[in-house]
Amino acid sequence: MGESVRAMAGRANGNAQVDKLISRILAETMRRESHKVDSWRRPSADIRRLVERDYVRSLRRYLPYRELRRLISAFADVLPEFNREPVGMMSTERLARRASDLDLNFKAAPYEGEDGLALRGFYVTRKQGILKRPLIYVNTAHHPLAVSATFCHEVGHHVTAEVIGGDDDPVHFFFDADYATHLEEPSELAADVMVSFAGYPEPIARKIFATPWKWGLVARAKNLTDAALDEVRGHIKKVYGFDLMARIPPHQRLHYLSGMIHYAKLRWALLAEYDV
Ligand SMILES: [Zn+2]
Repeated sequence: MGESVRAMAGRANGNAQVDKLISRILAETMRRESHKVDSWRRPSADIRRLVERDYVRSLRRYLPYRELRRLISAFADVLPEFNREPVGMMSTERLARRASDLDLNFKAAPYEGEDGLALRGFYVTRKQGILKRPLIYVNTAHHPLAVSATFCHEVGHHVTAEVIGGDDDPVHFFFDADYATHLEEPSELAADVMVSFAGYPEPIARKIFATPWKWGLVARAKNLTDAALDEVRGHIKKVYGFDLMARIPPHQRLHYLSGMIHYAKLRWALLAEYDV
């Protein structure tokens, strides 16, 4: 009995330490990463950059096919439906269970404040001092679909670190802004690729992105056609019941729209370049 009390105290202690670390990271991040928050305040510039970006080139450069295959199979161990069916929207309880299966610290809590919504979440490696296990934090002030996607992104960091390594950043922040910069950072790109697979498993990707005369333009060239965007919105509504124009506060719509464009273009590029 004495032991279980000690074990409980240890757990409580651990949680208090983790909570303290999270508060510290949140306070420091918003100060240090203020340029990301600035960029979050100007979402239309972000969208313009995304639409113009050549995703295929980033994939070729930063995520070779062999690494991608290893990531896909590691991810399928975590999520059995991965790249076969859409990974569903998950409750925070379910996310917590998944995190504990991966032996991760996990925290889901709203972070609002003036600019809080700029932050989607973060992943902290063991290198960050006190942590025995890596930590995932997700900002639940966001829509549940965004929270699930954030979780996939952060698990993407974790899996990438375990499978490929070579990543020395102790903390990875996910801002709901400037997705274009993810295309130039190999670890961010790998994490985002996992989100794209979660939302568009292969059978669906082949259906939606099968019209090269339309999607070739989307991934490579200068503009996203309205028809292409309608298909993406239709898919997300059908699978997740997520409607950008309903119940999403107007100031958040552009950010979610840039996320939608980003993950769709990335998925198209994966199909076009690697046939996965
Ligand atoms: Zn990240």
